[in-house]
Amino acid sequence: MAEECGDPIVTLEAFAILKRFLPPNTRLTSTYRSPEHQLRIILGFAAENNIPIQGPVILSQPNTWAPILARVRKLGKAVNAPIPGTKFPVSPHTKYKCVFDMSGANLRAIEAGCHSAQRIGAMEFAQIKLETNNHAVHVEVSSISRREIIRLYEAQGFATT
Ligand SMILES: [Zn+2]
Repeated sequence: MAEECGDPIVTLEAFAILKRFLPPNTRLTSTYRSPEHQLRIILGFAAENNIPIQGPVILSQPNTWAPILARVRKLGKAVNAPIPGTKFPVSPHTKYKCVFDMSGANLRAIEAGCHSAQRIGAMEFAQIKLETNNHAVHVEVSSISRREIIRLYEAQGFATT
């Protein structure tokens, strides 16, 4: 039995469940972000690196930001596109899914904790990725066991009947 992850609230639940498998001080460093937010991240990198931003940048018009993204990526930054429509991959964080990054503790220990959670069946991951450049572990949760969700809600004092 598994619950599908469909919204950002589930991300917080997944992290709450995952916590007991993780080293102390692990924190969420990135969760769902809107395409607008992703575009702001790209423009932020561009500004930091003196990449010129010409004319209005409009999210729905990739031709206004794709050249900027191309230059940001050339610097070696693992930044993805905010929306489809370019040759660049779209950020998994802009999709309405259970995707988040964690940091704040030893990354290998965080990664190992995720594998432990999966091994005991607490949750399943579509991806567990150690992103050394980002100093984070990126995960995509595909399902959380129903038992764990009930356990979480009971711990929080919610009625489950
Ligand atoms: Zn990530």
